[in-house]
Amino acid sequence: MDTPLNIVIVGGGTAGWSAAAAIAGIVSRNVASVRLIESEEIGTVGVGEATLPHMKEFNDHIGVIEADMMQQANATFKLGIEFVDWGFKGSSYIHPFGVHGQPIGGARFHHQWVRATQSGHETNLQDYSYPIVASRAGKFDFPSKDQNQISSTYSYAYHFDAALYAGYLRRFAERRGAVRTEGKVTDVSLDGQSGDIASVTLESGEVVTADLFIDCTGFRALLIGETLGVAYQGWSKWLPCDRAVAVPCDRLPGKLLPYTRSTARAAGWQWRIPLQSRTGNGYVYASDFISDDEAASTLLSNLDGAAQSDPRFLKFRAGRRVASWQKNCVAIGLSSGFLEPLESTSIYLIQQAITTLLTLFPRKTVDPALRAEFNRRVDLEYDRVRDFLILHYYANARDDAELWRYCRSMEVPDSLLEKLEFFRSTGHIETYTAGLFTPASWLAVYVGQGVMPQRYDRQADKQPLEEMLGEIRKLRAQIAERVDRMPSHGVFVEDYCPSN
Ligand code: FAD
Repeated sequence: MDTPLNIVIVGGGTAGWSAAAAIAGIVSRNVASVRLIESEEIGTVGVGEATLPHMKEFNDHIGVIEADMMQQANATFKLGIEFVDWGFKGSSYIHPFGVHGQPIGGARFHHQWVRATQSGHETNLQDYSYPIVASRAGKFDFPSKDQNQISSTYSYAYHFDAALYAGYLRRFAERRGAVRTEGKVTDVSLDGQSGDIASVTLESGEVVTADLFIDCTGFRALLIGETLGVAYQGWSKWLPCDRAVAVPCDRLPGKLLPYTRSTARAAGWQWRIPLQSRTGNGYVYASDFISDDEAASTLLSNLDGAAQSDPRFLKFRAGRRVASWQKNCVAIGLSSGFLEPLESTSIYLIQQAITTLLTLFPRKTVDPALRAEFNRRVDLEYDRVRDFLILHYYANARDDAELWRYCRSMEVPDSLLEKLEFFRSTGHIETYTAGLFTPASWLAVYVGQGVMPQRYDRQADKQPLEEMLGEIRKLRAQIAERVDRMPSHGVFVEDYCPSN
């Protein structure tokens, strides 16, 4: 039997407490102890309010009770993200957490939709997505478990207060035996022979040893970056936004909307995230194209409610570590990399890295092959998210501001160009076996940003055109009728998980 490991997590933001909650669940099997060190004086980044559906899987897996978590974190449901003014000014589309339509006449729905459009029958792709129609109507219900129903064709995520969610995870992890230490790490010692991290020293003088260290110190990257010197690969030339200014405001009057909104602005984009008690707002911008003062004033003049505090500024640089696991140190969260929150991917990347770590859990002496596989999987996730984010900037037809002209003409990674070309010329979309962003996501953004394919799957032509048009009209009516019967999102949340 292998010796169970002593684990030390440095950092107690969403990354640190997610890791502690999940790893505390395997104490006694592979883990002897989980200790988390965090410094209230340093604090957390404190943003990160919008998520992806995979979070439900993560929470379910570690044993979080949904209604309980939602109640304590002021959460609402999320069915997708609306992109306003992105492809061109005046445009709006939703990237839904679900598919568009269902296969018709032996072909995927979108091929029939392209065929309908090319034969002169103008239809809006968005009308065939159940979660989009529900989002626009401000409705919510759990997806049907009957796969034959159109109301089974989506999943959902959450909006929540990041500090309350981290607090929830802390209580959860502590109940499972994780031990928290308040204190600042001021020194890190390496083992002279192996180069592994031997211990961290706290400001109080206490020296803490462990077999495996998890670096959740946020942008500081104290262990992986400062101590082990793992390089950061920057992606600013593709993702030039490097700052954000954030401010909460009062809850929007009227409907509680089940989606995040991202509105493109002259030098970046503005988020709007509806929670039960308030609305989160922020402007993510490129400092090469706008000053901090201008960004703050743009944000404050585009709020839907009264600001609840002064604006808060944050700085970052898009990119990732060349290795997230080095020696006996695994970086999770902002210490491992940062991709702007356009598609709410950071917490996903955190929880995916934790799940991967649990799958590839090491022995006392870390097997280099295990470490290499972990890094390969983490890198792949980051690179795919990067390409997906770049697509939003690159496929734009805006001519009103310098940032958008720059993005339209920038050189993008070959991996993205290949995907774009494949879709443009064939109508097909690359499919992954695992990981983020299914073809439904790519389709929503391609079409939403004005990228249309020249051709469609020839299989679609096997069905007579009129018959196909009849079927897609029927589908649209069925979705509208079914959504009409759904409860409003506000009422649903009030019944299921009213905040304290
Ligand atoms: P942090 O929250 O910064 O935590 C770092 C921890 O390390 C703290 O506890 C700190 O005290 C501790 N620490 C640091 N140094 C020391 C030391 N020397 N000794 C002891 N403790 C130390 N993600 C999403 O998924 N959705 C979103 O909508 C979203 N929006 C975002 C908007 C912005 C503007 C930004 C910048 C990020 C956003 N993110 C979003 C990302 C998200 O906020 C982070 O991924 C998430 O909060 C995790 O952060 P973290 O735990 O890695 O770091």
